[in-house]
Amino acid sequence: MIASLEGAGLTWSEVPEEADIILVNTCGFIAEAKEESIETTLAIKEKYPHKKVVMAGCLVRRYEHNLKHELNEIDAFWSGADPAAISEILPDIYDLHDLHGQPELHKPHALPEQPEAAEAGAKSHKRGKRKAQYPLFERKHLLSFPGSAYVKIAEGCSNNCSYCAIPLIRGSLKSRQRRSVVREVKEFIGRGIFEINIIAQDLASFGVDRGSQELELLLHDISAVKGEFWIRLLYIHPDHFPRSLFSIIRDDPRILPYFDLPFQHASPAILKAMGRKGSKESYLSLIEGIRRDLPDAVIRSTFLVGFPGENRKDFLTLIDFIKAAQLDWAGVFTYSREEETRAFSFTGKVAKGTARRRKREIEELQLSITGKRLERFIGRELTVLVEEGVQGEDLFLARGYLQAPEVDGLTVVHGSDLRAGERVLVKIVRCNGVDLEAIVSNG
Ligand code: SF4
Repeated sequence: MIASLEGAGLTWSEVPEEADIILVNTCGFIAEAKEESIETTLAIKEKYPHKKVVMAGCLVRRYEHNLKHELNEIDAFWSGADPAAISEILPDIYDLHDLHGQPELHKPHALPEQPEAAEAGAKSHKRGKRKAQYPLFERKHLLSFPGSAYVKIAEGCSNNCSYCAIPLIRGSLKSRQRRSVVREVKEFIGRGIFEINIIAQDLASFGVDRGSQELELLLHDISAVKGEFWIRLLYIHPDHFPRSLFSIIRDDPRILPYFDLPFQHASPAILKAMGRKGSKESYLSLIEGIRRDLPDAVIRSTFLVGFPGENRKDFLTLIDFIKAAQLDWAGVFTYSREEETRAFSFTGKVAKGTARRRKREIEELQLSITGKRLERFIGRELTVLVEEGVQGEDLFLARGYLQAPEVDGLTVVHGSDLRAGERVLVKIVRCNGVDLEAIVSNG
């Protein structure tokens, strides 16, 4: 969206006081995120009553009608599926001559050579709908830490898990063209970005909407790109994990042996009700296979507790699974009952307090497992990417291959004169909770 607006002639600022228009990107996935999105947008409008506040993102996609009706103070809503088309909304909310120092809004100019855009545009012309679903503009400003970028390779999801609102919001799976993804990856590497986080709702499904899994082909294409970089694969549905990835990762150390596999549960009854095809046994076998083929592998997962019908026995099955799996990282969420999902009408509601207790119990268990798993890195040398310095101290927050941005622990590096976005070889000296501590290695 930033790139689209810049393409339309606007200038991005991180400082709200400087802005004429404040864009709030919302989430509509679960109840907590919906509340936070609304509260944040209203708080911003209250703080900056004279600025135009635009609400965009998934919450608007899901509840546009209600939001327009109820949030009269908000200046505009963007519900389009295509974030790259957001600049189309501006003439509706602004007399663009009022934008100080800005010329009249001109039509956004796409990057040259965008066959994807042309294809999508041609199709949409026939349907009379908005055009391309994917970024068409140069992403000059990234919201990630220096040296790191996200590249989204598909939108939507066709897995249709019974509890999940994402297919309702984002629609069914639509994969980008491989050449477009590779072009974006190359562009970031050319700009000196070291870590490319390849994301989608389910990477394993990439290409399936065109007929077959293409993640392996994409990684081969990326592997042919010269240079130093990390490719981090975020979110692979464990039910169709392509084991062909093992050999690609073994052959190219730039593709990190880091796997985020959202197992969600382990009880057969709950997995079935969730619409997931795996089992405790198949998941443990997958974990074992990953560790056998890639001994340095780091595995993260997420779990959902308090799903309708989850009884004590189901929960204990999940606890047993987590003890057996010995994952490196895990996040736990409580079930959020989302309208229009299949699970909305399921019986066997679990009390909120029970769900929260179960979440805490797993978090405590996982904390001790994570602490133990981290010990294997003590004494090892690792390359880390510096995120930022700690003010007033000779300490830097960084991440190694085992730590994905924002969700995992960090590596705290003792040193001086390091820069955000810089890669450094460090020696891990100790664990501290979920973080590692390191000193700069002398080589
Ligand atoms: S795979 Fe993930 S995004 Fe897709 S429906 Fe299931 S939970 Fe939702």
